[in-house]
Amino acid sequence: MLKVTGIETFYGKIQALKGVSLEVEQGKVVTLLGANGAGKTTTMKTIAGLLKPKTGTVEFLGENITGMRPDQLLRKGIALVPEGRAILSTMTVLENLEMGAYHRNDHDIKKDIEQVMEQFPILKERSEQLGGTLSGGQQQMLAIARALLSKPKLLLLDEPSMGLAPLIVADVFRMIREIKSSGTTVLLVEQNAKQALKVADYGYVMETGKIIINGEAKDLLEDPRIVEAYLGKK
Ligand code: ATP
Repeated sequence: MLKVTGIETFYGKIQALKGVSLEVEQGKVVTLLGANGAGKTTTMKTIAGLLKPKTGTVEFLGENITGMRPDQLLRKGIALVPEGRAILSTMTVLENLEMGAYHRNDHDIKKDIEQVMEQFPILKERSEQLGGTLSGGQQQMLAIARALLSKPKLLLLDEPSMGLAPLIVADVFRMIREIKSSGTTVLLVEQNAKQALKVADYGYVMETGKIIINGEAKDLLEDPRIVEAYLGKK
């Protein structure tokens, strides 16, 4: 579904990505792991069209989408939930969800909002509340639900568990499992390597702008290099 080949992305003269290649198959959850500053967010932003790679290509469903704008990519079915959530704090939960569907012109929007609220009841309970009054975990759920309302084929999640208490982290991962079982393909950037590998089918590990390890998630959970660097002693 998604094929990234040899992308190199720069911030001015600083080269953040040094030839990153990865693939995401339809219906799978793929996780991208690595320490702070490894280049995970830069990879996500390059895929989502927020940054342009100097070299390399991004293909989606067989089409070369390198350098296309985020709004064009959203229409093609790629939705990014950025790090730090970025929900609209002065709009209600319902209005936030409606914003997620702003570019759609089909007649199912209302039905889809109701379905998302059934699936994630806390959003229904709080539908008239302002986004900014939700807890961190609820805001993250709202950000993900809003992205789902664009009906993405590929959902890019950048560190959805960041800054959340452990119990809430479990809720966020439960949400990712539900998204997976509904058939949406996910690329997930996480600091929380263990949980990410448990939900994922396949994983990549980045270090200083490069992919250094990749493999089936269940194998990576046992890989001594991963256990030592990212999972801690058992
Ligand atoms: P984190 O978990 O901290 O988000 P990351 O793996 O997502 O880390 P990136 O944010 O992609 O890493 O950063 C990759 C490299 O690019 C780092 O060396 C970082 O310092 C640099 N970088 C990121 N954003 C900018 C920017 N706006 N200007 C200059 N350099 C940047």
